[in-house]
Amino acid sequence: MSSELEALIRTIPDYPKPGIMFRDITTLLQHPKGLKLSVDGLAEKFSREEIDLVAGIEARGFILGGAVAHVLGKGFVPIRKKGKLPHVTLSQEYALEYGVDHVEVHADACKPGQKVLVIDDLIATGGTAEAGLNLIRRLGGVLVGAGFVIDLPELGGAERLRKAGVHVESLVS
Ligand code: IMP
Repeated sequence: MSSELEALIRTIPDYPKPGIMFRDITTLLQHPKGLKLSVDGLAEKFSREEIDLVAGIEARGFILGGAVAHVLGKGFVPIRKKGKLPHVTLSQEYALEYGVDHVEVHADACKPGQKVLVIDDLIATGGTAEAGLNLIRRLGGVLVGAGFVIDLPELGGAERLRKAGVHVESLVS
């Protein structure tokens, strides 16, 4: 399955900066089987876990996470970029190559003890995912795991999260 998905991911050289090979999943999302394989594949990886909510990280994590939540029959929680959520939020800083950014979640997005699966399109250094996971923990949620369509293993994020005890799954490496 991963080679089928891999073939649907487009690589854009030098985007957004020279030297970066950007993995573009829009080609995979617009392909009916590609979308289905991605969503069902992620849902399947966590199908033996008890889950109350699926959280997706803006923006591509919304597309995949929303669909995974639907397949699993669970609710969806958006983890957004700074300043986008209308109600009371928790904010978590994370490091970028130069500087910092923040992700936010509504303070009432999950109740203490609820089991939450976090979904994004891709894990590279793991900084974004880690910030999202921290928000869920700070809400008192129990982290079920983190699922990604793509893992870039040379950047070490998935390995770092696994070493910290997180159940990490990806479909394409
Ligand atoms: P990390 O924080 O270094 O793990 O980067 C992962 C975050 O950046 C995710 O939210 C991805 O959507 C985004 N990202 C990083 N590299 C790529 C890429 O090559 N394609 C698509 N998204 C990327």
